[in-house]
Amino acid sequence: MDKIEHIGIAVKDLDKSNQLFASLFGEPHYKIEEVASEGVKTSFFKSGPNKIELLEATNPNSPIAKFIEKKGEGIHHIAFAVSDIYKELARLKEEGFIILNDTPKKGADNKLVAFLHPKSTNGVLIELCQEIE
Ligand code: ZN
Repeated sequence: MDKIEHIGIAVKDLDKSNQLFASLFGEPHYKIEEVASEGVKTSFFKSGPNKIELLEATNPNSPIAKFIEKKGEGIHHIAFAVSDIYKELARLKEEGFIILNDTPKKGADNKLVAFLHPKSTNGVLIELCQEIE
């Protein structure tokens, strides 16, 4: 894995949280994107070289709605950039990690993404992402 690509934070109200994080960083979000297939609306902030993704559920069955129901708002996942997601998934599977989606899917921010089950990673949901060329 190359580096932390972003940290994802689950929020109840994206508009409110956009204001909050704009105050925190002294700069507004630079992008809003809905990923209908995942039932989420996301916004992205930059802090120097780092990125923060806020995620709001767009329907009650969204994984974000379920996460907030169980744990409340807060850090939802850590995303790592990889250069070959298929190769990395094969390697991690071989190592015994539980992959939530064996076939990478299109996520926000023009990325192919796959997730590792938090059960196999000390309770941390890990996202792998690869820039779509
Ligand atoms: Zn993410």
